[in-house]
Order: sequence, then C-alpha cells, then structure tokens
Amino acid sequence: MRRAVVLLSGGLDSTTCLSVAVAEGYEVYPLSFDYGQRNKKELESAKQVAKYFKIKEHKIVKIGNVGGSALTDMKIDVPDYKGLPSIPVTYVPARNIIFLSYAAGYAEVLDAEAIFIGVNAVDYSGYPDCRPEFIEAFQKAINVGTKNGVNGKPVRIHTPLLNLSKAEIIKLACENNAPLHLTTTCYKGGEKACGVCDSCVLRLKGFKEAGIVDAIEYMD
Ligand SMILES: [Zn+2]
Repeated sequence: MRRAVVLLSGGLDSTTCLSVAVAEGYEVYPLSFDYGQRNKKELESAKQVAKYFKIKEHKIVKIGNVGGSALTDMKIDVPDYKGLPSIPVTYVPARNIIFLSYAAGYAEVLDAEAIFIGVNAVDYSGYPDCRPEFIEAFQKAINVGTKNGVNGKPVRIHTPLLNLSKAEIIKLACENNAPLHLTTTCYKGGEKACGVCDSCVLRLKGFKEAGIVDAIEYMD
C-alpha cells in the first residue's frame, strides 16, 4: 500500500488534509510536533483525530522551542483580529522548514511516496512558509538532499488545500467525514476557543460562508 506522512497539528486544515490522504487511499502516518506551543489542546486534538481515523502509528515528536512567536513565548500576547498585517507575531520562525525536514527524513525511512501538509495561501495568516514558492523550493531541496531524491524517486509534497478558501476547506472536510468537532484552532490555548484571534476569526468566517455549524465551543 502506498504510504504518506501527514503533518497533523490537530487543527482544522491539517485534519482536512489527513482526510484527503485517507480518501486517496494512502496508508497514512500522521506526524505531530510538541514545539512548545501555547495551545497544548492542539496535541490532544491531534491524538483524538488520529484515533478517529483508526491510525496505527501516530508519531508525536518533541522538539526544542526556538521562541520568538506569540504562539510559543508566553511573554508575547496573541493579538485579537484587526485585519491581517503582512507577517503577524503569531508567525513561528521557520516552523514548516523544521516540520518538513523531519517529515522528509521520516518519509524516507518509511519508504513513503508522499508528504501531506495542509498549508493554505488564501484564508491564512500571511506566514511565508505557507506559500507555494516555499513548497516548490522545499521540494527541490528534497530532490537533491535525500537518498530517494538522488535515486530518482523523491517523496512528493502534497498540498491539497493550498488554493482553497476556508469555506471550501470546511466543505471538503465534511465530504470526507473529517472530525472537525475534534479540532483545535484557537491560538490562545484556553479551555474554549476565544473567537477573536486571527485563527478563530478565519475559522468562524469559513463556517459561516460554508453554511455549516461549527460544533466546537467558543467563549461568549
Ligand atoms: Zn482564538
């Protein structure tokens, strides 16, 4: 069976991405990172999502916290949504470079032919490592920097959500029966989602546009 490593944060996009890989018939190997994120619920969600899909092996890797982000440094506040600046303080330095590097190594060990990552360049926070030019550049690095790459069968990065709006992602998730009720989106890490950070606002807007009710709990 064809194998795929799927980066799974426990959020809406990565959970949808996992559902796409499953629907495409891959044997999936979800990969999550404990990188010092403020919202610990995220990893709990990732575990529940993996369980929902009856995944045999869900790898959770603890890596050092590089800091420098509102999502990993408790001294930097998560701002409420005020329209998106070019690169907000919730940007985590080089996060997808770090995650994809690990995924490329793990994929080579598994002899997986695909890495799925739920990056999106439409309804997103402006992070540079979510853009198509970054993914293309990283694919080139895999092609020349891995054994399978130089042997002519590099693992391919799949980005099924790249050009979808949040509403389209939510509809796709529903078609694939992805458990969006188990996902965690909020940047703040409270018991309930705040409803006012960039991530909550994009999620709520997406559900509204899709005409679907969001089953997670929000603060008033
Ligand atoms: Zn929030």
